[in-house]
Amino acid sequence: MNRRMKTVCNFCKTEYSIDNVPNMPVRCAVCGNTWVVPRPARRSPWLVFIAALCALMAAVVFAVAVIAQNQITQIRENPLIAQIDEITTVTGDDDVTRFVVNGRVINRSDQIYGVPGVKIISYGDDGAVIDAQRFMPPATLLDAGSSAEFSHILSVPMAGIEKIAVELDQNGDNK
Ligand SMILES: [Zn+2]
Repeated sequence: MNRRMKTVCNFCKTEYSIDNVPNMPVRCAVCGNTWVVPRPARRSPWLVFIAALCALMAAVVFAVAVIAQNQITQIRENPLIAQIDEITTVTGDDDVTRFVVNGRVINRSDQIYGVPGVKIISYGDDGAVIDAQRFMPPATLLDAGSSAEFSHILSVPMAGIEKIAVELDQNGDNK
């Protein structure tokens, strides 16, 4: 890429704007003087590196601030979340193997909450909902920052279930 650069005749001081071709002699159209245009000063690679690093760090700090803001907003809107920790299986007296969903409800806020109902949704390989069942975790109150574990055996057989999701049943009443 050729950038234009300025050069000045060192005899008659006429200014020229020329293509950036270093170490080529230039002849002045006014006075006939010739001179060699020096290679333009390059920015130090270290300065370029440090400037890039500063820009990167500023971007990271900004991203972290945005993420923290998002987390605060999410906690305000959804102080309680449910998560699955482990899925195991159990075979009953009826010789049917079922999934056991072990998870917890987490109170991310600094207030006490009643434990809501938990809904476990099972999906087939085509993404269709096979089953959805609601239950109440054993704990009834969640202190600030604490969690309530649950272990729930699905009533449907494990066959055909490809994916299991858990969500809070916020609409259910909290008996
Ligand atoms: Zn000249």
